[in-house]
Amino acid sequence: MIYYILDNTAFSSGLNINITAEDSEIEFITTPEIIEEAKKNRNSSQIISVAFLQERIYVQSPTLSSIEFIKEQAKLSGDIGALSDPDISILSLAYDIINFSPNASVILLSDDYSIQNTASFIGITFQPLHQMGIKERIVWEIYCPNCFRRFPPNKLKSICPVCGGKLKRRRKRKGKRKRK
Ligand SMILES: [Zn+2]
Repeated sequence: MIYYILDNTAFSSGLNINITAEDSEIEFITTPEIIEEAKKNRNSSQIISVAFLQERIYVQSPTLSSIEFIKEQAKLSGDIGALSDPDISILSLAYDIINFSPNASVILLSDDYSIQNTASFIGITFQPLHQMGIKERIVWEIYCPNCFRRFPPNKLKSICPVCGGKLKRRRKRKGKRKRK
């Protein structure tokens, strides 16, 4: 049995649970806190709706003792300040399932660096999403290489109205993560 523990980034990366879950030996599990957080994003919300409809995902709360353990460990690893309550919940659930099912493979799917770091500190196996065969979404932005102003996508290769530079394209940097 393989348990994939899904954090918020699994949904926002567009994880295709239906394709990935063809193998009946695979189960996808997440926490109510992650569902709550992921539903705020429209794409994630759609993935969750479909997964529920097809009964492809299980939602389970971690035990309080695991939550306490994970918080202690995250203090030691220095990640505690960067972990949200949903982050703590998913690490705790992974830890629970490892303890409940010692013979199963338990893999935490996450692109979140603080979750990955805490997981490796504790010894929880994790996998970044791109290793699940998911193409990373690239978001481009149009900018002027001279004055660094940004423009809408349809302005590519036109001329900067401010300084006359030829507009170029670059990968949009991800915004700062919302953390408490
Ligand atoms: Zn310019």
